[in-house]
Amino acid sequence: MENEKRTEIATLGEFGLIDKLTKDIQLHNDSSVKGAGDDAAVIHSGLPQVITTDILVEGIHFDLVYTPLKHLGYKSVIVNLSDVYAMNAVPKQILVSIAISNRFSVEAIDEIYDGIKLACAKYNVDLVGGDTTASPKGLIINVVAIGEQQKEKIVYRNTAKEGDILCVSGDLGGAYMGLQILQREKHVFLNAPDASIELAGNDYIVGRQLKPEARKDIIEYLESENIIPTSMIDISDGLSSEILHLCKQSEVGCQLNEAEVPIANETYNKALDFNIDPINCALSGGEDYELLFTLNPKDADKIKSHPDISVIGEILDANLGVKLFTKGGNYHDIISLGWDGLKDG
Ligand SMILES: [Mg+2]
Repeated sequence: MENEKRTEIATLGEFGLIDKLTKDIQLHNDSSVKGAGDDAAVIHSGLPQVITTDILVEGIHFDLVYTPLKHLGYKSVIVNLSDVYAMNAVPKQILVSIAISNRFSVEAIDEIYDGIKLACAKYNVDLVGGDTTASPKGLIINVVAIGEQQKEKIVYRNTAKEGDILCVSGDLGGAYMGLQILQREKHVFLNAPDASIELAGNDYIVGRQLKPEARKDIIEYLESENIIPTSMIDISDGLSSEILHLCKQSEVGCQLNEAEVPIANETYNKALDFNIDPINCALSGGEDYELLFTLNPKDADKIKSHPDISVIGEILDANLGVKLFTKGGNYHDIISLGWDGLKDG
């Protein structure tokens, strides 16, 4: 890296930097009336707006030892789009604010924005504004995402009903195992900077951590099949935590079937290597950005053949609690461990 060109932020100034970052932005959505360049952006949509924001702080949410800046920019957008999709809405605009210290160059900020713009292009979202400012130390990225949907198609967390089937997209636990690999290699690197970083063979799980995707495709599939989930949430903090949110807010119970929880082979095998029970990666590992949703059983046939949607359980009366039905035939209460809980096994 030290041989690459380095332009100090101070040589451009704040306005020069913003001009540089926004000069080639084109707006693609009709509702994006005015983007960056005035005091405020202008959005005009005839539909209800869904708005969310998420903040990523260096040292808390990401580690630049193993996170490429372009991936960080990409992921900062994805985590917000995932929340818009989790409302069954279509994201249309984002605003991005960055606080950055002078240890970063203009080229580094360009890399972050390359990732942001790549996500915008892939998900057909317009970058319509934001802010940049100096930070005394470290990097902070805040993204606001704005989406739209007809009022009757917006899906909430608190509307699951007894008898609904519980579904999840994709597979779970991969991002958590990817993080374990990256942290292990960071440790190796810090102890012996000349040692080679060994990520080979772990492409899938490392990719799940560094370059997650939001499930635009699932929302489009449900729309094409005229399915409106009865409730939905995205999986950012692990399956246990999201199921508990959904059940608590909907005032229902649930049976989650361990045998049906989708876990990729690479995740499964790597978990065993690390002496972690694979189901715990899915239950408590975060950042998979898959969609967890409930369906009226009348829609069950429509998703049965979809290769990337799994039926993992059923919504029950609240009195029956929130239970994991294990492969061994036992029932356990689902509790929210979060990432720290995993470390104790
Ligand atoms: Mg969410």
